[in-house]
Amino acid sequence: MNEHKAPISFENTQTAFAYKSSEQLKKAHFLFSSMGKPWLVNLGLKVTPYAIKWHLPFTKTVIRSTIFQQFVGGETLEETAKVADKLEEYNVQVILDYGVEGKEGEENFEHARDEFKKVIDYAATQANIPFMSVKVTGFARFALLEKLDTAMNAAEGTLMKRYLHAVELLPPAEKEEWHRVRSRMLHVCEEAAAKNIGVLIDAEETWIQDPVDALTILMMDTFNKTKAVVFNTLQLYRHDRLQFLKDSYDAAAERNFILGSKLVRGAYMEKERERAAAMNYPSPIQPDKEACDNDYNAAVKFCIDHINKISVIVASHNESSNLFTTQLLDENSLPHNHPHVHFSQLYGMSDHITFNLAKAGFSVSKYLPFGPIKDVIPYLMRRAEENSSVAGQTGRELALIKKEMDRRNV
Ligand SMILES: Cc1cc2nc3c(=O)[nH]c(=O)nc-3n(C[C@H](O)[C@H](O)[C@H](O)COP(=O)(O)OP(=O)(O)OC[C@H]3O[C@@H](n4cnc5c(N)ncnc54)[C@H](O)[C@@H]3O)c2cc1C
Repeated sequence: MNEHKAPISFENTQTAFAYKSSEQLKKAHFLFSSMGKPWLVNLGLKVTPYAIKWHLPFTKTVIRSTIFQQFVGGETLEETAKVADKLEEYNVQVILDYGVEGKEGEENFEHARDEFKKVIDYAATQANIPFMSVKVTGFARFALLEKLDTAMNAAEGTLMKRYLHAVELLPPAEKEEWHRVRSRMLHVCEEAAAKNIGVLIDAEETWIQDPVDALTILMMDTFNKTKAVVFNTLQLYRHDRLQFLKDSYDAAAERNFILGSKLVRGAYMEKERERAAAMNYPSPIQPDKEACDNDYNAAVKFCIDHINKISVIVASHNESSNLFTTQLLDENSLPHNHPHVHFSQLYGMSDHITFNLAKAGFSVSKYLPFGPIKDVIPYLMRRAEENSSVAGQTGRELALIKKEMDRRNV
């Protein structure tokens, strides 16, 4: 059989966990077992924010040696080096994420911009850090984004037309404020383009997403003329995103830039549904998981079908979506390390996918957040929630870890 066409398998736990010592494996086993107990996770989700706020003794120590160690690269940029070096030994790259969330105020926004710049400068000195990620809420006031989004939704026409109209409606002080947001974004993208680092703009809640999309597309129009520097994130748990991908592609073709698309399913499903129900508007979320999976794979296929003009990041822990992408590459005789195709999984999850993809020569990374413990709590809470069902992700992680522990006899 042609070596290139050999189907990839995610079963090999020796490859998946070669970078972990047996002690680390046992710790991961304990953590995922704990996260499989919904009552414990629910208690943790309720208590932790207060424990941090009130500086309760041992809180940070416990978090640092458990969930933080599993999912976060360190408290500082420098601390991530150890993890990145380890991953490099296995041809796994890194997407650095300054994981501080939910801090408002101009001073914090300016600080975040400087931190993003530091991340870019640091990444440029490292061989295996091709990307960094950015949350626009890290340097823009949530309520301002929400106001723009509401105005955009009330308007007619293309995304860009609605965006320009919404900005025009802002009172002078907020127009100025928005101008500062755009400058921060521009500053980050300029630095990234100069240092050859890709900037991945995270997708967040639907009720702030339209201005984020518009701003990101404007940046792509400026910086993606010859290669993808800026990437937008599309959440395929939304029923409108496959069409949005096609519309974004049309805009890219018309304006002659390369569309950067990071494809995810989405991390805020419950919140989205609850808000839609509470405020009595139709849910933006797909009717069921199958519809979400179908659109995810259709989006991957659309990107591969237009691979000369789209640079895609398959950001998923779903085995069949990852497998499907590798099959599409093979069917289209595209090399495993095609410069427009990248895979990524969150650090601490789905090592069986990441390390087996890397071994088969695909371009793959771990998404590695860093930041002070108190500031990465929202990120950790999303990971705990995501991993709290024994039937889902946790069951799979646990089974794989157990298989490898058995293989090692530990
Ligand atoms: C590198 C990377 C970057 C990421 N960046 C972002 C980001 O910017 N923004 C963001 O929101 N998330 C982001 N995520 C998180 C991602 O959205 C979650 O990891 C994802 O939801 C889990 O989906 P999965 O593709 O791994 O597959 P699976 O485990 O197969 O799918 C689980 C997901 O499917 C969806 N789903 C489940 N049930 C239903 C249902 N009944 N109806 C509709 N949909 C359903 C939900 O999104 C759920 O999380 C990122 C993930 C990675 C790996």
